[in-house]
Amino acid sequence: MGDALTRVATIAAALALMVGLPVRAAARTQTGAPASAETDGPAVEAAGAAGAAGEFELLPPPAPGDWRAALCEREQAFEEYASRYAPLALADKPCPPADRPVIRVLPMGPASQADAEEMVLLERFLQAYFSSRVLVEERRLPPASVRRRPSRGFGRQLLADDILREIGRDMPADTIVRLAVTREDLFASARRGVYFNFVFGTGSSDERAAVASSARYHQHYPDEPAGVTPGKRFFKLAAHETGHVLGLAHCARYRCCMNGSNSLAESDRRPVHLCPDCLRKVEWRLALGESDRAGRYRALAEVYRELGWVEEEAFVAARAGTPQARAQGDAPASSPRVEEPP
Ligand SMILES: [Zn+2]
Ligand SMILES: [Zn+2]
Repeated sequence: MGDALTRVATIAAALALMVGLPVRAAARTQTGAPASAETDGPAVEAAGAAGAAGEFELLPPPAPGDWRAALCEREQAFEEYASRYAPLALADKPCPPADRPVIRVLPMGPASQADAEEMVLLERFLQAYFSSRVLVEERRLPPASVRRRPSRGFGRQLLADDILREIGRDMPADTIVRLAVTREDLFASARRGVYFNFVFGTGSSDERAAVASSARYHQHYPDEPAGVTPGKRFFKLAAHETGHVLGLAHCARYRCCMNGSNSLAESDRRPVHLCPDCLRKVEWRLALGESDRAGRYRALAEVYRELGWVEEEAFVAARAGTPQARAQGDAPASSPRVEEPP
């Protein structure tokens, strides 16, 4: 199903089983028990100075059980990214909003009363996050061709690979990302004939398609961070999988929305925001131009205020508001710059 760059799944504890990490963690998650702090080991202090609003934080070394400890992923340098993915502008740069490529959100499965409001908020969130047009499509049931299997503690599971294939079939031409969102639990193929016990979501740049599930986001665990909600977890996942469709690999330098996660607790530790390295890739791909950056942060601040995400609002407001913050964002400290394309 493609290589690690184009077919990156947000894998949870199943991975621990496959790479020989403690089985206890995977079994607990698989049966629906909350992820435990012991799954991820003790917290490690950040390597970089951080803490002030709007400052980016370097990732600490991985703790046992963390994504980076379980999987050896190469860092994706900007040069590598830019040589592989062309900017997606449909018109002259920067695109007027009406000409921007479209991100489509496709709700999949039976609706609940809360869904309509959530879809409106998700649309606004993704619109601000990617400075793109976002359209929510008509809800559909999972096609019969999507393989199912019995519950692993969170209701029946749908095969994410099949969902990606199905929503890629009638992909509208203007679409850069089609993101299926579902309340049903997902599993995915790891390699031929072998499946992960579950995944939160997955995204494929080859197929321009992603799927994100909120099935496991109502769990709690000891010492859960303040401010964590199922909605924030889900929106963050939607941004993460959309990032994969845009070609972003997992981020291993900063605390960043594109950090891999091997458990719910690790998912909760990754922030909503993109680090300078990942934001630069998104700006390149979407032909946004660095001049749009402050506007993006202001738009996000509005959405976060509406969502009641106080910490996130303070972060983006700080980055939108000061020349110093913009300068930091303009110059990723950790990767060499390349010339902009002609
Ligand atoms: Zn991922
Ligand atoms: Zn990043």
